[in-house]
Amino acid sequence: MNRVYLDNAATTAIDPAVLDAMLPFFKDHFGNPSSIHSHGRTVRSAIEKSRKKVADLLNVSPAEIFFTGTGTEADNMALRSSVETLGIKRIITSRIEHHAILHTCELLEGRGTEIIYLQIDERGNIDYDELEQLLKIKIPTLVSLMHANNEIGNLLDLQKAANICKEFGATFHSDTVQAMGHYVHDLQITNLNFAVGSAHKFHGPKGSGLIYLNNETKITPLIHGGGQERNMRSGTENVYGIVGLAKALEIAYENMSDHQTHIQGLKNRMIEKLNSSIDGISFNGNAEDPEKCLYTVLNVSLPPTDDNEMLLFNLDINGISCSGGSACVSGSNVGSHVLAALNVDPSRGPIRFSFSKYNTEADIDYAVEKLTELYWDG
Ligand code: PLP
Repeated sequence: MNRVYLDNAATTAIDPAVLDAMLPFFKDHFGNPSSIHSHGRTVRSAIEKSRKKVADLLNVSPAEIFFTGTGTEADNMALRSSVETLGIKRIITSRIEHHAILHTCELLEGRGTEIIYLQIDERGNIDYDELEQLLKIKIPTLVSLMHANNEIGNLLDLQKAANICKEFGATFHSDTVQAMGHYVHDLQITNLNFAVGSAHKFHGPKGSGLIYLNNETKITPLIHGGGQERNMRSGTENVYGIVGLAKALEIAYENMSDHQTHIQGLKNRMIEKLNSSIDGISFNGNAEDPEKCLYTVLNVSLPPTDDNEMLLFNLDINGISCSGGSACVSGSNVGSHVLAALNVDPSRGPIRFSFSKYNTEADIDYAVEKLTELYWDG
């Protein structure tokens, strides 16, 4: 049977060239990077080369890049360490952030930090004027807003948000996990305090993340121990993961505009075909505006039938992997907090399709054909 993978916002397939770059560090170069003998030094050098590569791509200094276990860890570090070290008393965020942000905010709220959620419109966009108004109240504040939403793909105007934060003296963190490797980030110009990435979202390995920490932002670490990562993230380094992350980001930057054109073309094809085969289908968030939506994500709502709930299951039986919301809560069949914040009707069986450079037009045609068949049968 055909198997079509359309869940690339959950994770992407590793690029074979990334795996090739990682393999020597599983076998020959197994030293501990903290060891001073040659086995250790070889591996240390690979980590530092990877750091330099990532820093060059993001246009920052290598001293501002720290490798972490995951994007989740990096988000936790930005929020928790800001409150602990920078005297942050208030966090301004939104209800459509990833749980790595929302659950950390809940924890911090329980410990006395004020959390404010910006209002969003029915498409999931924040109001920049509201952000400005709130920042006029002079309380030490961290603003945490994601660059690209993992469920609906909405894009934040990162530069605009950063400018507002700068003007009002707020610290700015952006969860850039879904956008990194898909757009060029010039972090020096954008003026963020924190940005984060996760290799498995751009054809790198799972369990390998990073945090960009602007060198004027002095925080304490989240994890304490042997002092690795210049004392900002203790624990023996995930060497293959770090090498793989840097290689994956390099490949992503090399071919970014070609991939963007290809993937946006697939998304447009799916929108067009779905529109002509299912009356009343709609697209959540800014899906139809390529300027305001991540090109890898398409979130659809179907007109209600008795059997919408079975659709994901039946798509899987027919060889199509996609998701109902974020994969990070998979296993627990809770509704999507993002779609709930947009008041999307859960009975309209929202489905997230997400694409990668490995998808083809045939994948899209097959998925639309099966979805249409299953929908009308239901
Ligand atoms: N932030 C966003 C927007 C994500 O989509 C994800 C993963 O889905 C994360 C954070 C967490 O990244 P990781 O899987 O590396 O923990």
